[in-house]
Amino acid sequence: MPTTPKPASATVVSQQQALLNSLPFSDTQDFEDATRGLVGRRQPNAVTDADGAVVWDNDTYAFLEGDAPDTVNPSLWRQSKLNTAEGLFEVVPGIYQVRGMDLSNTSFVEGDEGVIVIDTLLTNETGAAALALYREHRGDRPVKAIVYTHSHADHYGGTKGFISTEDVESGAVKIFAPEGFVEHSIVENVYAGTAMNRRAAYMFGAALARGPQGAVGAGLGQTLSTGEVSFVPPTDIISTTGQEVTVDGVRMVFQMAPGTEAPSELLLYLPDFKALCAAEDATHTLHNTLTLRGAVVRDPHAWAKYLTETIDLWGGDVEVVFASHHWPTWGKERVVKFLQDQRDIYAYLHDQTLRMLNKGLTGPEIAEEITLPPALENAWNARGYYGSVSHNVKAIYQRYLGWFDGNPAHLWEHVPVERAKRYAKLAGGVDALVANAREAFDAGDFRWAAEVANHAVFAQPDHAEAREVLADTYEQLGYGAENGTWRDFYLAGAMELRDGQFGTPTETNAPDVIANLTPEMLFDAIAIQVNGPRAWDEKLSIDVVLTDSDDRYRLRLANGVLTYSAAPQQGDADATITSARAALPALAAGNPAALAAAGIEVSGDASVLGRLTAVLDPGDKNFAIVTP
Ligand SMILES: [Zn+2]
Repeated sequence: MPTTPKPASATVVSQQQALLNSLPFSDTQDFEDATRGLVGRRQPNAVTDADGAVVWDNDTYAFLEGDAPDTVNPSLWRQSKLNTAEGLFEVVPGIYQVRGMDLSNTSFVEGDEGVIVIDTLLTNETGAAALALYREHRGDRPVKAIVYTHSHADHYGGTKGFISTEDVESGAVKIFAPEGFVEHSIVENVYAGTAMNRRAAYMFGAALARGPQGAVGAGLGQTLSTGEVSFVPPTDIISTTGQEVTVDGVRMVFQMAPGTEAPSELLLYLPDFKALCAAEDATHTLHNTLTLRGAVVRDPHAWAKYLTETIDLWGGDVEVVFASHHWPTWGKERVVKFLQDQRDIYAYLHDQTLRMLNKGLTGPEIAEEITLPPALENAWNARGYYGSVSHNVKAIYQRYLGWFDGNPAHLWEHVPVERAKRYAKLAGGVDALVANAREAFDAGDFRWAAEVANHAVFAQPDHAEAREVLADTYEQLGYGAENGTWRDFYLAGAMELRDGQFGTPTETNAPDVIANLTPEMLFDAIAIQVNGPRAWDEKLSIDVVLTDSDDRYRLRLANGVLTYSAAPQQGDADATITSARAALPALAAGNPAALAAAGIEVSGDASVLGRLTAVLDPGDKNFAIVTP
């Protein structure tokens, strides 16, 4: 029986009131923009999978109306109301968007006979529902092309809801994507995928009940749909800024923006509509320089530079900007100001972080010290609903200087459990830590309460009162957070302390993604599962021969590490695997039955496969986060 959430404390209530008084809530332009051009809605909104399970239901956010309750930051409440405006919308005649049907948007550009789809949502079910909604109102136009703006799953995962692989193979549908798309979309979801997905469950509040004391939205969109993720590789790679492609009479001019919000990303301009698709580089939030689920840190300097280029390329012509999340902005002046604000927030955070780190400030100190120019502070599109100033500047510090702040005290610290035990001893026992945390809680110093209570839980995880005060503290921090992902993290932490771990409810490392691994990526994915100590004394070699290409690899396990080479090798391997490239992923399963079923032949000493499998140690989808 889940524990009942608690009310907001007086401290949080007064914080919410202060924000209400300081931000320009009377500016309601965003509400006009988020609802402008509504063509039709899907009612009721729920989307189900083949088994009838609900994978998306925007109607569950119907509680988001009127003023913010005490338990939700009023700025986040406003953002969530905007994000739940759902339906098919006309951007300009000939360009339509389905919004509020997943974390992300899908956009439709009508050509002579058919339609070009820009981004396909996260899962096939929501993708298919969005296409059906579009066709219901705009006719049964065939999909002529798809553009993937970047390498994140919420922009390509729903593709099989729009088209089939046969449509691509027959040449009926072209798929455009930026250079590096396949590599990055797969690497990000596979190598560190288990950890990212577990952390993403916190970040998107996947296990939280929706409501004023639970999940209210993730800032970028409401949450992730939970259907099936597909991966259909692109047919046409875009690699040059200024490259122009015409499909079905629609002219598209591309701008490359690698290393911005995604490692592989592009923006595109539709000159015949005077419409700019800003992908995910200009949205109605301060985005992440480092997403809390974890990723390789992004480059806000490049991000700002590319947005300058966007303005220079099309700022004189553009009449509307739409993106892969949130609502469009209309009118040349407003579009350019929006792009400038977005550019300036990334440039400002980047430059000020470097200015301050060169004075010796560390990441957490910069996060505390930095202040924004009032014009950006009050620009709704630059508020930290998804990224935050606080965690973004720490990420910029990390990008340039890494995890170490230069203080030798931090070079070789005890691990959290050992520190916690020593703090408990210093305080006079875990009970004393708990009493101090409760005191801080009552005084509204939740940041200190979290630190002290966290030590108490790590020193003695079964201490019921320690868990309770830590959960209560996270809850208040969640209620006060303007950032949707901070709120989710805090409330998810409280939930796991109170009710136990919820694991990983949604995963993006889908079978379709695994099936598209290159042989090298597959070998890497296996190598990172090798349990080093278990494999110390193991020594084996396997040749992999692909039947549908000239590629041949030698895999070698020795010294606890699996390495590979495509160069010609001396001598024979212990075993040889002969496989079609598409069947190779069965190698990850390792057992003879799976290999045989996939049509993979093994010659030589087949027992080496079992020895390799025996040292594999896959990730834990339910690893502990708020407890040791
Ligand atoms: Zn996205």
